[in-house]
Amino acid sequence: MQSTRYRAALVLTPAGAHRDWALTVQGDRITALGPAGAAVPGDVDLGDVALIPGLVDAHSHAFQRALRGRTQHLDAARPDADFWTWREAMYRVALRLDPDEVEALARLTFLELVEAGVTAVGEFHYLHHQPDGRPYADPNELAHRVIRAAQAVGLRIALLRVLYHRGGYQRPAGDAQRRFVESDVDTALARVEALAAAWAGTRGVSVGLAPHSVRAVPGEWLAAAGAHARATGRVLHVHACEQPAELAECRAEHGAEPVAVLESLGALGPRTTLVHATWLEDGAAGRIAAADALVCACATTERDLGDGFLPADDLLGRGVRLCRGSDSHVRIDPWEDLRIIEYHERLQRVRRNVLAAHHPRWGGAADGDRHTAAVLWPIAAQHGAQALGLAGGALAVGAPADFVSLDLSEPTLAGAQADTLLAELVFSADARAVRDVFVGGRRVVTGGRHPQRAAIVAAARRVMAAL
Ligand SMILES: [Zn+2]
Repeated sequence: MQSTRYRAALVLTPAGAHRDWALTVQGDRITALGPAGAAVPGDVDLGDVALIPGLVDAHSHAFQRALRGRTQHLDAARPDADFWTWREAMYRVALRLDPDEVEALARLTFLELVEAGVTAVGEFHYLHHQPDGRPYADPNELAHRVIRAAQAVGLRIALLRVLYHRGGYQRPAGDAQRRFVESDVDTALARVEALAAAWAGTRGVSVGLAPHSVRAVPGEWLAAAGAHARATGRVLHVHACEQPAELAECRAEHGAEPVAVLESLGALGPRTTLVHATWLEDGAAGRIAAADALVCACATTERDLGDGFLPADDLLGRGVRLCRGSDSHVRIDPWEDLRIIEYHERLQRVRRNVLAAHHPRWGGAADGDRHTAAVLWPIAAQHGAQALGLAGGALAVGAPADFVSLDLSEPTLAGAQADTLLAELVFSADARAVRDVFVGGRRVVTGGRHPQRAAIVAAARRVMAAL
């Protein structure tokens, strides 16, 4: 099999940033990494760029991209704007979309992700049925559409198929939730497996399961989902502890907070990812750490929804792995998602470099300094890959060839050196510096632009104009 050697000014590996290195790709894997040395015929010189691992977006609802600009006002009829009123607006959009529209919106979201340097997405997919609530002829029709959208863009996808049953504790599903719900857990899990079977062996596509939340499914569904995840090895994602009202309802039903409920029902383990975790009470953080579960922070969405602050300092202090997602896509900025995690701690504590206390000596820093960016960087890719059950998340021999080149002459990164690159990525970079994006060895973005950008944007604009 032919291999290609890419030369770059800087290459970021788990050991640090290296000047004048080369990365060799064979098929969909990285097969060599090291000093570039003299040019050899066939080398591809990517120029004055830094190569970094592709970023991972571990929590996405692609269709919610259509809500941009439509929820930033006080509704005269609902002056108490909060997460729950936002959810009503989201339901109105969700009820209208047909399969072509779902696919067009997903393509736009995934285009924006990949142009921002993201190479893998976890799509938390709960839009299952026809607008009237009846299943499609293939009950996974819309999940297939979302996967095809990722394929069209060239993005790696873990489709986290959602289990959804009810409106909440002692509340049946409302009419607005008719496209999401299923009548019994065996049917829902059978559809997860049917989806996985349909895409088995397809490169870049995997399937996980996602009980929507402790409020949207009863305890026996959580227990069945946990058992199914253990039996199949699939990852399990669940929204948890996002809002105080959710905790109160969970206590009323189960007599305990949501993480304790997940733990007692066998749904909390090293392949579990709790999405949000902005309200952790009664020992929840300790339970997450003891189970070696992950937490997915969605900072740009959480600040938009008024969810609250992630207790990042506490979680990191307990050794919990954090990852990130852009969730509602009110803004797609994986770089911003990272730095907000630290900035929220600074604003609350009136201090700087709060999370540096958890520096794991990444890169073997010998100077005794503790680097905040080194604590945040695994959130960008490595832990996201783990949350999705994927290999990779770092540039290493044997890892998938998912990587991104960043232009070192672009103004936002100008002046970056090997020893400052990481801090500049975490605190100062954004998508403007992204040049080429490779997924599984295939170049899907060139010069900062996806080749299908114009057509994808035009199709999605037509959908949103009609909403
Ligand atoms: Zn979500």
